[in-house]
Amino acid sequence: MKLRYALVDGERQEAQPKLRGSCPNCGMDVVAKCGQFRIWHWSHKQKLECDHWWEPETEWHRKWKGVFPDSWQEVIHYADDGERHIADVKTDTGLVIELQHSPISPDERLSREMFYKQMVWVVDGLRYKTDLEAFRSVVEFATILRDDPLYIDPRRKTGIFRRWAPLQTPVFIDFGDEQFVVAGCSLLEPVLWQFLLHPVTNDVVIAPVTRASFVDYCLNGGELRHLAVLRRPMPLRRPRYVRRYR
Ligand SMILES: [Zn+2]
Repeated sequence: MKLRYALVDGERQEAQPKLRGSCPNCGMDVVAKCGQFRIWHWSHKQKLECDHWWEPETEWHRKWKGVFPDSWQEVIHYADDGERHIADVKTDTGLVIELQHSPISPDERLSREMFYKQMVWVVDGLRYKTDLEAFRSVVEFATILRDDPLYIDPRRKTGIFRRWAPLQTPVFIDFGDEQFVVAGCSLLEPVLWQFLLHPVTNDVVIAPVTRASFVDYCLNGGELRHLAVLRRPMPLRRPRYVRRYR
């Protein structure tokens, strides 16, 4: 199990060549792995299951963690019954941000949601190439359910829509710098795609949230800002996206 931080003489520290430390979760010895090709990390000396929820850290994880203060990253979270897990990010207000690169079963998702309670998922949409292509074509030809905030009905509920349909906590899909066209219009700024459930049909609905507002929401408790559509008067019927938020 790879970690960004370990305890060295009681202090949280990143891996440096030849450094030894202990795992903040299980207390076992960890060694610094500082190779040429992999990101530098700490690795348990013995093969053991320290936290079975932990997934190998990728560049994508590192990038996201790097948005937040050091002390918020890889925080051990305890439940009343003594169960403990390492949260990818836990803010100073107690919000856990789980960065999920690989798919996980609905059972595991639910147990993590119950364990952390106050949490959001950020999902790596670029894990599978097929997801990106499918998502692109879905939003391009999707039906706009609502202009402000912009809600889209993906119609086809396969792949990523099925895997990440919200259970109890909010889900945000991250497609990095990929550009999207929604019903003929380009988006004006980078977004995360929030997955919601339609209150009546219980189907997945998607809503683009500005990336900047998501980061502000996590860092400072700011408002999530959804994009909105401005309809031009007739005969210019083409909808247009503007920097209007709700
Ligand atoms: Zn450990």
